[in-house]
Amino acid sequence: MGTEPPRRGDRQEQCSACHTPDSAYLWTDERWRLKSPPKPSGLPVVVILEPRAHLDLGDLSTMHAAELGVLTVRLERAIRSLESVAQVHVNRWGDGTAHLQMWFLARPHGYLQLRGPFMTMWDEVLPPIDEYEWQMNLEYISAWLSAD
Ligand SMILES: [Zn+2]
Repeated sequence: MGTEPPRRGDRQEQCSACHTPDSAYLWTDERWRLKSPPKPSGLPVVVILEPRAHLDLGDLSTMHAAELGVLTVRLERAIRSLESVAQVHVNRWGDGTAHLQMWFLARPHGYLQLRGPFMTMWDEVLPPIDEYEWQMNLEYISAWLSAD
């Protein structure tokens, strides 16, 4: 078998997540940070949850794993509660970066053709949603996570 190509951040000193300040994130706590892509895309919400520490999924401690479960449910609930959202896809691909990224992608209400694993491709094909709506959605989700 040949060797696999390196992933971004295989060497922590070159990991962009580890070198990005909290100010670039929508929400943070002691161990987790939530960000969005830099501009609106075709879906009403795309957010990415990362551990603050340089860890991949299999590296998580029991505490991190438990928190990931709780945060996954809270995020899914927050995103799905938006009027424009019917379902939330939760993905971890793992091939792109060594620093864990959990992706949350919202399927817009009524867009049944977006169901299933091809929704990430639709995100790039559909025209970007309105910038104001996108910003309001992100602020809503951030506020939801900040509330106890
Ligand atoms: Zn990292």
